[in-house]
Amino acid sequence: MIPAAFDYVVPRTLPEAVAELVKHGQEAKVLAGGHSLIPLMKLRLSTPSFLVDIGRVGNLTYIREEDGHVAIGALTSHHDIEFSELLKNKLPLLTSAASQIGDPQVRNRGTIGGAAAHADPFGDFPACLLALDAEFKAVGPRGERSIAARDFFVDTFTSSLEPNEILREIRIPTPPPGSRGTYLKFSRRSQDWAIVAVAAQVRVTGHEVTQVAVGLTGMGSRPIRASGVEQALRGKAGHDDELRAAAERAVDGTDPQQDLNGSPDYRRHLAQVLTRRALEQITAHH
Ligand SMILES: Cc1cc2nc3c(=O)[nH]c(=O)nc-3n(C[C@H](O)[C@H](O)[C@H](O)COP(=O)(O)OP(=O)(O)OC[C@H]3O[C@@H](n4cnc5c(N)ncnc54)[C@H](O)[C@@H]3O)c2cc1C
Repeated sequence: MIPAAFDYVVPRTLPEAVAELVKHGQEAKVLAGGHSLIPLMKLRLSTPSFLVDIGRVGNLTYIREEDGHVAIGALTSHHDIEFSELLKNKLPLLTSAASQIGDPQVRNRGTIGGAAAHADPFGDFPACLLALDAEFKAVGPRGERSIAARDFFVDTFTSSLEPNEILREIRIPTPPPGSRGTYLKFSRRSQDWAIVAVAAQVRVTGHEVTQVAVGLTGMGSRPIRASGVEQALRGKAGHDDELRAAAERAVDGTDPQQDLNGSPDYRRHLAQVLTRRALEQITAHH
């Protein structure tokens, strides 16, 4: 289908982009990779009359380490994340998730900022960013503010960004040496959206699990931290029976939906199985 008519600007700087958003108010939308917004506009589920294309704003495409953080520019593509040597070494949870998003076209156009701002409960990055305690830097008419991941994802397709704010950067604390992560995604066909997926980051020091963070995709109206799993595993040795018992708690506090892909019970089962597999994979050989 053809989208409803809209006007379009291509600002070159963030302040110009914010000024356009302020000028056009509720009618305006930011356009990044366009791989979520344009399909919604074609279906006329979204009908903004003004698009602010941030694709040519400079300095929003980068992955770098600074001051104990990895900083990722909002326009960095899924492809660039998938193949980043820095992320492969420091945050393989993100390269693993990026490699499982859609198909190569989607990964070449889609951006991490767009994926976060879109806040799709079945999107792959939100659960990862929640598990990694990411911080979101947003620029608006009153300057810049920082939003913690636990406050960023509010509900289905709803982040805590104001309509006139632009997500500029995502910062992730660099995990300490020995911390390992992975993203396990279950879908019926390759390249599909997740039915359920699990983002896990664990550190075993000596014979003790000293860090454990688990995020779930597809288990509610927003990504969820599996705090039951984290509590059950923290301080344990990471033996098989402990991993299994902890993974059982992946259903605590979740509210999975019924849809054509699966029932709530099926999703609960998947969350437990995927959590167990993810924990086994990243604690192996300790
Ligand atoms: C065929 C297909 C398959 C897909 N499969 C998957 C999948 O398996 N897993 C997955 O996670 N995703 C999947 N996606 C979605 C894809 O990852 C999108 O690219 C992503 O969700 C949105 O990023 P974008 O840059 O394209 O954002 P856009 O579509 O440009 O924007 C999305 C929303 O975010 C807002 N926005 C974008 N950037 C910013 C910013 N910097 N600041 C403030 N607001 C902003 C826009 O206003 C809009 O509301 C798929 C998409 C397609 C078309």
